[in-house]
Amino acid sequence: MINRMNLIKSIKILELTQYELDDLTLDDLKKKFRELAKKYHPDKNKNDPDAEKRFKEINEAYDVVKKYLEQKEKIGSFGFSGFGFEPRFSHSDMMKQMFLKQRSIIEKVISIEDLLTKKSITIEYSVYKTCTACSGAGCSKCDGGFIIENKSIEISNIDRLIDGGRYVLNDSHELITSSGLKLQIPISVIVRFQDYDKKEDVRRKGNDIIKVLKVDFVDIVKLNTGSKYKFKLYNREYQFGLNDIQQSSIKYKFNGIPGSFGSSTGDLIVVLDINFDISKIKTDKINDLSTLINKYINNQNSKTN
Ligand SMILES: [Zn+2]
Repeated sequence: MINRMNLIKSIKILELTQYELDDLTLDDLKKKFRELAKKYHPDKNKNDPDAEKRFKEINEAYDVVKKYLEQKEKIGSFGFSGFGFEPRFSHSDMMKQMFLKQRSIIEKVISIEDLLTKKSITIEYSVYKTCTACSGAGCSKCDGGFIIENKSIEISNIDRLIDGGRYVLNDSHELITSSGLKLQIPISVIVRFQDYDKKEDVRRKGNDIIKVLKVDFVDIVKLNTGSKYKFKLYNREYQFGLNDIQQSSIKYKFNGIPGSFGSSTGDLIVVLDINFDISKIKTDKINDLSTLINKYINNQNSKTN
């Protein structure tokens, strides 16, 4: 634990002021220390009987201020103005409370894939409790005065979640103030649904899912023969025939995100992105196409003959 008097003394030894401490970075401190260590090094001050003692003091002061800055960095840099005063609810208490409040709302984005394929999801979160060994000052047993516990909760009915919904967990951060007051800060989760999955080129519009499917035009021509086009989305198989296509898209009713709390289940809409560039279509597909064309020509010929 850093003693305040000790800190004030150390600042003086390092030839700094309390006000400078507010904006002091670790780099600034190191620079200052190197400067002083050079100036007061015993080797350079052989005639000064106090040189050795002063050099030791500078080293000790450096350690104290460094530790203070490291702790401040961990807690968050909100500016330590008014240093030197110790109100009942100290600045450090308020800062720790702010720090915990920032960590009391967890944002969880649920991917479109999870929304379409999973029944439950796991949400991971961390619980911060003031370390009792050091009363929150920071020690080797804790992390900046807190004991951090990583936890997770399983939400078993993912289809009951709503986009933007906030869910309070049965868990709280715990802050013990410098005057011994115990504060509980409840933890909650805000759920957000993913809007766009770049990898699959899938977009969400409410509960509807819009998938852009790249197809070669040869495959669309082949549908003329009554064959079906098959594709996979998140490991689910879908298929369509020529009659299913309407304005270059196919609608799979109720294959979108399950509706919750009165909203209706969405549809999966597949938009065809047809590749007409022959140079980019594989040779075997072109061969297929020429077979089809030959067949067609032969049919036409036999009709006219
Ligand atoms: Zn501790």
